[in-house]
Amino acid sequence: MDQNVTILYEKICQGDRVALGKALTLVESGLTTDRDDAIQLLSLCEKGLKGHDKSIRFAVSGSPGVGKSTLIEAIGLKAIAQGHKVGVITIDPSSSISHGSILGDKSRMTELSTSQNAFIRSSAAGSVLGGMGRRTYEMMTLVAAAGYDIIFVETVGVGQSEHLAWQFTDGFILVLQPGGGDELQGIKRGITELADIVVVNKADGDLAALAKVASAQYQNALHYFSSLREGWIPKIVTCSALKDTGIDHVWDILRLYQSTRQNEGQWEETRNKQKLFWLTWSLGITANQMLMTHPIIKQQFLEANEALLKKGVSLFKAEYEIENTMKDLFNPLPSKEIR
Ligand code: GDP
Repeated sequence: MDQNVTILYEKICQGDRVALGKALTLVESGLTTDRDDAIQLLSLCEKGLKGHDKSIRFAVSGSPGVGKSTLIEAIGLKAIAQGHKVGVITIDPSSSISHGSILGDKSRMTELSTSQNAFIRSSAAGSVLGGMGRRTYEMMTLVAAAGYDIIFVETVGVGQSEHLAWQFTDGFILVLQPGGGDELQGIKRGITELADIVVVNKADGDLAALAKVASAQYQNALHYFSSLREGWIPKIVTCSALKDTGIDHVWDILRLYQSTRQNEGQWEETRNKQKLFWLTWSLGITANQMLMTHPIIKQQFLEANEALLKKGVSLFKAEYEIENTMKDLFNPLPSKEIR
């Protein structure tokens, strides 16, 4: 074991924030040389957390502008006031979706970020589809090892992100704003089905009455869905993150969710499912990258692209031929060649 990695791990456990920042950078690094150290560090964290992991990880999802950051800050401040440590990982979609425009130009969670008991970090979504960062799951492990027991992962409410976020976290918070048409959108896209807690935010000023309507509509919609998490019936709460009204209630619901789920006797199984899902997902990405960048496949792919532009070339035949080449790559050598 590399001595530097052991020292870094010890510092993280002692609450050294600079060390945690370094560790997260290491884990997110694309360099092969960093990967060995990252794996050693993560293994230490895994070992340290075994039987001692008090963290609960919430995905916070919703369309841009509904108030996810404001809400996380408001809840986070309550949690800290009660002696918790709050970790926030925001998925930065800049590289894949908005080309840097969504998160880049606004200051977020300014009050929370000044607290010694909060740690906020963005995780690059990179080219991975789905809005979860490639290394977000590993980052959660580091943040938990550093003693942050309430962890929020803020995702962008696009595409498949909700499904991935649901799989990787312990609880799913869907944030909506009244009157934005989000009520119907959410139901249509099936997101409501995933939500453990629906927060109708911005229940203030002119929007207060609309928030009540939205909340009732959701309550009705939820009747049609059975809960996906054992022992929990999805809850709907309204609040104003900006005015700090109803946040105590949201925090209470989160705590209730935590105690219900952790006492359910399924906790260990839930976490094991997350691990297995992550393993499949992560290896799937690696396998895809390895195959698609293999020189033989790359060449055949380029040729197929060109051929497809000409008339008469079948898309399905082209796909089938590449598929067969892929299979050949995995075929063992014929027995006579082995001898
Ligand atoms: P996010 O993109 O979902 O993270 O949304 P933000 O937290 O950045 O908030 C988007 C805008 O909505 C900002 O201008 C916030 O000040 C505003 N906002 C957030 N929460 C509330 C709220 O409870 N009430 C009102 N009226 N505005 C809010």
